[in-house]
Amino acid sequence: MSKRALVTGGAGFLGSHLCDSLLADGWNVVAVDNLLTGKRSNLAHLRNEPRFELVEKDICEPFDVGRVDYVFHLASPASPVDYATYGVETLKVGSLGTFHALDHARAYGAKYFISSTSECYGDPLEHPQKETYWGNVNPIGPRSVYDEAKRFSEAVTMAYRRYYKVDTRIVRIFNTYGPRMQLNDGRVVPNFMKQAIRGEDLTVYGDGSQTRSFCYVSDEVDGFMRLAKSDEPLPVNIGNPNEFTILECAKAVLKVVDSTSGIRYDPLPQDDPKQRRPDISKARQLLGWEPKIDLETGLRLSLDYFRKAVAEEVAAAH
Ligand code: NAD
Ligand code: UDP
Repeated sequence: MSKRALVTGGAGFLGSHLCDSLLADGWNVVAVDNLLTGKRSNLAHLRNEPRFELVEKDICEPFDVGRVDYVFHLASPASPVDYATYGVETLKVGSLGTFHALDHARAYGAKYFISSTSECYGDPLEHPQKETYWGNVNPIGPRSVYDEAKRFSEAVTMAYRRYYKVDTRIVRIFNTYGPRMQLNDGRVVPNFMKQAIRGEDLTVYGDGSQTRSFCYVSDEVDGFMRLAKSDEPLPVNIGNPNEFTILECAKAVLKVVDSTSGIRYDPLPQDDPKQRRPDISKARQLLGWEPKIDLETGLRLSLDYFRKAVAEEVAAAH
């Protein structure tokens, strides 16, 4: 019998790329998604793929898609704008949705993989961030709907491992970008790409000195696949350790798009982490993984997608 994987959030940015990688690796794949922030069009290229199906369902309700060998739980709004809009939905999918995904794995004796986040480290006081760092998170601030949901979902995952012997993996993802990101999810790369392509000013929040480390999607998903095949039960950071200020990121986008847009300084959102860079020693040693694609190359690889997305938006407005 062929291996069958369930991907929650499979119509989203990372979920759809993971479905592609699993199919390429010989798996049958069932994606479960309620299309809250995902799109059918992210999976349109799989329309005639007999080994793939999309089930439209909210995983906050109990669900059963039949026997699977691996559950990949990615469903959750992920951008600060999305989880500010869908705060309660984010808490529910991180809690109820995580229970249901774990119950599905337990019922079929499947392995389980959850997409956690660098947000578990909050506004970090340790830099770069190692997996052993417990974080600096405001439990009641505007980002808490996401940060605490993810921290809770890591706790539930470890509890199912300890109490029910479910074979689990936890990835802590750092800012990842690439084709199929929503154009309007407010994250920095789509915002800057869209603004540069349209010739509008790039909106840098604060003075742009805060840092992030950007990972191209193919590197990220390669890390997922390696972790999924490993035996590591504890969290593993998967992200690109090259750290940029947001102002440097804006300049890289202007160069790649060859845009004459200017830069506008807007207020910094509350609790915006000042710095973020993964320590990836564990992924290097354990998985032989490290990212291959630098920021400028990744932005170039994403350019066609963002140009098309901007053109479609313009066409839809007319
Ligand atoms: P995304 O918004 O593109 O994808 C999330 C998907 O989950 C969407 O398709 C959405 O419709 C689906 N979903 C949400 N609630 C659901 C529910 N109740 N039932 C079924 N489906 C539901 O975001 P993404 O960037 O692809 O993120 C995927 C995962 O990776 C998330 O868990 C996110 O927290 C994590 N992550 C992403 C990043 C990043 O930089 N992209 C960083 C850290 C963590
Ligand atoms: N940011 C910005 N301009 C934008 C969007 C985001 O300066 O148009 C900043 C944001 O304040 C943060 C960083 O870019 O410091 C990354 O934001 P994003 O929403 O992409 O992800 P985060 O890492 O904060 O979850």
